[in-house]
Amino acid sequence: MQNIIKCLIIGGGPAGYTAAIYAARANMNPVLYEGVQPGGQLTQTTEVENFPGYPQGVEGFQMMEDIKNQAIRFEADIRSGVVTKADFSIRPFAVEIDGKDTVFAETVIIATGASAKYLGLADEKKYNGKGVSACATCDGFFYRKKRVAVVGGGDTACEEAVYLAGLAEKVYLIVRKPFLRASKIMQERVFDTKNIEVLFEHQTLGLFGEKKVEGANIVFRKGGADEKEAKIAIDGFFLAIGHHPNSEVFKPLIETDETGYILTKQHSQHTNIEGVFAAGDVADPHYRQAVTAAASGCRAAIDAEKFLKNIECKN
Ligand code: NDP
Repeated sequence: MQNIIKCLIIGGGPAGYTAAIYAARANMNPVLYEGVQPGGQLTQTTEVENFPGYPQGVEGFQMMEDIKNQAIRFEADIRSGVVTKADFSIRPFAVEIDGKDTVFAETVIIATGASAKYLGLADEKKYNGKGVSACATCDGFFYRKKRVAVVGGGDTACEEAVYLAGLAEKVYLIVRKPFLRASKIMQERVFDTKNIEVLFEHQTLGLFGEKKVEGANIVFRKGGADEKEAKIAIDGFFLAIGHHPNSEVFKPLIETDETGYILTKQHSQHTNIEGVFAAGDVADPHYRQAVTAAASGCRAAIDAEKFLKNIECKN
């Protein structure tokens, strides 16, 4: 059998990289697989203004580079690769990478984060890459001086709407409720931006366009007495309606809640399987902040270290 990894970390976001810093400094020689999106969701955001230590804010991508480099400084082994299977019924745990190689580990920290949700409309698939996107900072550039819509009423939607308003001629913010869920400061930015029009109590029925998105069919107060359908002319349709946890590959052995968030034991990052820990958005339906993800990565590494020490003491 090949070398057994003491601490295998799955996922290259703030949780994973922070776990790597702590695990490396605790002599656990961590190996981290970065997954499909090295750096995680923060590489798709614009400026991060609320992570402590950056008084002037920092680009999400830069911040992730900084945390990663900090882990590398302590000799964490950071590799590219996606986990395609995990067997937590045997020890050491067996984890398959990219559908071919299998690595073995004494402890595993799952920090695979979460991915953008879609509305579930057939048109989202039809126009994927032809006007439909879940990342304004990745694709906003293509919509300079054009008209776009952002769906959602949370911080992400507001942030994306403001970002796009700097590029596009007009931004519709399609919000299903009569209010925004976003923080006050983000709401103010939206209302202070002249080329954003907030369409409260609207839902999207579908998209249309010959080869790419040319517009959306929307409805006001669906199911209400004053329900009214309308068309808006847009070139881009951006989803910002939240995320779902990337926990599929670890099921059914790892316990999750009904929406797939990995359950951790109270006051710890332990999952239901001894030696397997979870950190960051994949285990956090509530806070979902970079700083809370980083903190849980730290906790997971400390929990893993204690777990290994207990085993050593028993042997
Ligand atoms: P949220 O879950 O906060 O908001 C999702 C939004 O999408 C809600 O307005 C929700 O509507 C709407 N929505 C969900 N499903 C649908 C649907 N099927 N059709 C139409 N609308 C839908 O997700 P976010 O990604 O905005 O934020 C996640 C977390 O990250 C939050 O804690 C947020 O504060 C944080 N965040 C912080 C930032 C910052 O501080 N700079 C930046 C971005 C995110 P409804 O309200 O009706 O449920």
